[in-house]
Amino acid sequence: MMNHSIIPDGTDTRFDVHAIASLKRLPYHRIRHWMFAVVALVTAGVPFVQINGNQLFLLSFRHMEFHLLWTVYDMQELYLIPLMLILFFVGIFLITALGGRVWCGWGCPQTMFRSLYRDFIQGKLLGLRKWHIKNRPLKLQKPIDKLKFVLGIVLLIPLMLLASANLMWFFVNPYEFAELLWNEPGDHIILLGFWLGFAGFFLLDITWIAERFCRYICPYARIQTVMFDADTPVAIYDSKRGDNVDGSRGAKNFQLQRDNSGDCTGCEACVRVCPAGIDIRNGLQLACISCLECVDACEPVMARLKKPNLIHWASEQSLRGVKVHPFRPRVLIYLTVLILIASFLVYRGQHRETLLLNVNRTTELYVIKEGGQEVENHYVILLTNIDDQPHKFALEVEGLPGVKITRPSEPFEVLPDGKVRKVVIAKTDELLVDNPDGNTSIPMRIRAYAIDAPEQFVSVKPTVFLFPPTGDVKMTEQR
Ligand code: SF4
Ligand code: SF4
Repeated sequence: MMNHSIIPDGTDTRFDVHAIASLKRLPYHRIRHWMFAVVALVTAGVPFVQINGNQLFLLSFRHMEFHLLWTVYDMQELYLIPLMLILFFVGIFLITALGGRVWCGWGCPQTMFRSLYRDFIQGKLLGLRKWHIKNRPLKLQKPIDKLKFVLGIVLLIPLMLLASANLMWFFVNPYEFAELLWNEPGDHIILLGFWLGFAGFFLLDITWIAERFCRYICPYARIQTVMFDADTPVAIYDSKRGDNVDGSRGAKNFQLQRDNSGDCTGCEACVRVCPAGIDIRNGLQLACISCLECVDACEPVMARLKKPNLIHWASEQSLRGVKVHPFRPRVLIYLTVLILIASFLVYRGQHRETLLLNVNRTTELYVIKEGGQEVENHYVILLTNIDDQPHKFALEVEGLPGVKITRPSEPFEVLPDGKVRKVVIAKTDELLVDNPDGNTSIPMRIRAYAIDAPEQFVSVKPTVFLFPPTGDVKMTEQR
């Protein structure tokens, strides 16, 4: 390909790395670095923002509970987790429809740590590479360079341990995490294993898998294109003004097609700076992470020619001069789903049950006592006090007169967030049904309530009382 970086009037239009500093706007890569700092601070800080020891989000398998918006939920309320996942994914769909793949280039930890490792540690700190040349593998011919390369990995290790710990803090309270691993690491091998395992994987990913993760592993990269439409902004090459590279004129080879007929100088600054190793002039590609480094790279080259940038962060529509509609149907659908789920979660947080009750029958059908004068049914209940105060709870039968709970005979105390499992005995000395042909299952309810606030802390669960055939009992009077 002929390089026409020196144009006929003698102007040198080659890419000059210092020219980026002369951009009239803030370069995208600098905004990205600020964004990375914000994302890192928020992600690391959120687990420490606790209200009464509760986190914004925590899924604790150790305590069988999860925290959402600083409210503790019992694992029995785990049905909220799929809703939160839907909320998360629909949120990403919405961001993708509105801003393209901005999550990948501006918020994803993979991109953030790759940038930190490649551009800062290997580039700025160790001088192994130039930040505007990202598409070339390192040449480690000199021993000092090999040493620097190893040093770069060593410097990355504590950061990967911190990133892995940060991930764990969404599953184990960070203070508890530190206490468990500091005081008795040998007793918490699984926790230690997860922490070191994730750190090891992150290290491998950032140093070796690199952008291949975005290209071949990340499922989001596969599905994001279906969320795009003509209004979605992406890094886009202005093929009308640039060279003819789209193959539309029939040649088989892209390189032959790049016919120097347009404004592109062929400096390839946009190609060299691309961390995904793609040539944006060939059109939008799956590997593009919308980092917009190519936009930054082309702008000073074009500025020397006093021409507008050839690469934009824009939608196909806006490049054609058509007005972009932010509130298009798919955006409205995503927004509606988001608002509905978020409202439901907030409503659940404010109107959640303050008492959880689970009632199960034991395997025993019934027990006949006092020579057939009494019949007992046995149940196992699990009662969880979700309030932040201790309460004394009592149990009673609803909907079946003649049946009373005889065990537990006294109210029992349950501490805040405490759970109590109890065997419950319901008894009758009345002939509930006159059925000589077999057992009869009679519906009833078990009601649990706090003695001090029976209307506020109450839960009622349906169950059945099994009554034996009339011939097996000696009660004479039917209720
Ligand atoms: S599109 Fe790329 S190759 Fe062409 S002028 Fe811009 S930076 Fe240089
Ligand atoms: S093509 Fe441009 S926006 Fe896409 S990954 Fe490469 S440098 Fe970033």
